[in-house]
Amino acid sequence: MIVMKFGGTSVEDEKAIERAAQIVLRRLHERPVVVVSALAGVTDSLLAMSQAAAAGRIQEALKLLRPLRRRHLAVLDVLMMKAPAEPVRDDVRTLLDSVQDMLRGVAALGELTPRTTDHILCTGELLSSRIVSAAFAQHGIEAVLVDSRECIVTDANHTNAVPLFDWTDESLRQQLQPLLLAGRVPVMGGFLAATIDGIPTTLGRGGSDFSATIVGAALDAKRIEIWTDVGGMMTTDPRLCPSARRIDVIGFDEASELAYFGAKVLHPATLIPAVRKNIPVFVLNSRQPESKGTCIRARAPRSRTTFRAIAAKAGMKVVNVKSTRTLGANGFLRAVFEAFERHDCAADLVSTSEVSVSIVLNASHSIDGLLHDLAKLGEVDVEDRKAIICLVGKDISGQAGIAATVFDTIAAANINVHMISQGASEINIGFVIEEHDVPEAVRQLHQRFFETKPLSRPTRLRAISGGLGMQACTPRINARAEVG
Ligand code: ADP
Ligand code: ASP
Ligand code: MG
Repeated sequence: MIVMKFGGTSVEDEKAIERAAQIVLRRLHERPVVVVSALAGVTDSLLAMSQAAAAGRIQEALKLLRPLRRRHLAVLDVLMMKAPAEPVRDDVRTLLDSVQDMLRGVAALGELTPRTTDHILCTGELLSSRIVSAAFAQHGIEAVLVDSRECIVTDANHTNAVPLFDWTDESLRQQLQPLLLAGRVPVMGGFLAATIDGIPTTLGRGGSDFSATIVGAALDAKRIEIWTDVGGMMTTDPRLCPSARRIDVIGFDEASELAYFGAKVLHPATLIPAVRKNIPVFVLNSRQPESKGTCIRARAPRSRTTFRAIAAKAGMKVVNVKSTRTLGANGFLRAVFEAFERHDCAADLVSTSEVSVSIVLNASHSIDGLLHDLAKLGEVDVEDRKAIICLVGKDISGQAGIAATVFDTIAAANINVHMISQGASEINIGFVIEEHDVPEAVRQLHQRFFETKPLSRPTRLRAISGGLGMQACTPRINARAEVG
């Protein structure tokens, strides 16, 4: 069997859904399970209305809900010309009515908990999977709607839930295998799941990719296909840099680093289940179904460029803690990381000196409690609106001169570097800059490493702490650490 996941733009309207149906029709002999995202923009819109309701602006929230209702019913009208659409329309109406009720509840309480957020957000995928399964049936596909809340089991970490693989694998096999054996095509909403008690959860924004690999690993899929709006995994985000090129084949390790450091085309956890079962993942363009896309697999040929790709992750904060020296260097670091763990904050990059540590984390985390605890260990300050740039390439390990070229390029663009880190696996070089410098930094680095000749002048990375000619900065060099 195979898994085919269609992202938001690949099911955004009736034309996209029809294209998806054609793509699935061509693969029926491979026994596909289909995973769909919400129609493009729907999750953002559900989130915006939830936040408006929580702020007491219920009329604004309900106003946002109306076009969503019209859009889903209109898509359905066009798609269901040949069959009675009433049962599907009823389901769509019921789902949207329940969003309306939840918004009123949120407004009445003036509070939006992560659990309620999940209840509301998962409606996007419940709607799309309902509509897509009905539309597929019209195209002669024996589609059957499967409720992901009944087969993907997670912990109760709402809005970023973690799958409980033993339960999930078992339950996916029990529910999907008989359908596949009967020649049916299960259609499931991505992104949503439920706790063991059946309370809806979501897997984090962009989580439908993860759903697809969770399903693929449970059923030992031959391959997993991620259908999206770009030609594959590219050398950088084509929205930032139009000269980005498609990568033909990339290893699991490099692709995971890219996803983790902001290549939005894959949810950061996507490859974990695929690696576990060694299942190749293909990233494909639903507007050009015949094109080759990118194959992500255990082994990839050597890259002809120095790096495989560049990723950027905006919306970061840097937390700096300067020790009061009462704990000693080791005790200080341990206490800092314990505080991160207690507050369930994951660090993306870490840099240390004898008396201070700088940690980069996602700005969407609420860090008041963390800062309160860190203040007991030393002087704390927080820098906002930062971004991580990460250059990934397995073949940089042991090569000379690379870091110097990276930072020369950044310095020549007059961009200030706040912090530097090379992953312990020597597969990436990451550094922190101002958010507004991201487009320029990515374009310059892309031009240097992907649009000009390979490097020639050697200088070892270890030598750069003596000064890189960067503007107004004291780069700190260190290995990346995982916290929380
Ligand atoms: P979907 O709705 O199909 O899940 P996403 O918007 O989540 O699609 O992901 C696709 C987008 O990811 C692309 O439109 C592109 O702008 C962005 N992206 C970021 N980095 C990369 C990269 N290295 N390769 C391809 N796309 C990337
Ligand atoms: N619809 C969800 C989101 O926008 C999940 C996904 O698209 O993968 O985050
Ligand atoms: Mg996505």
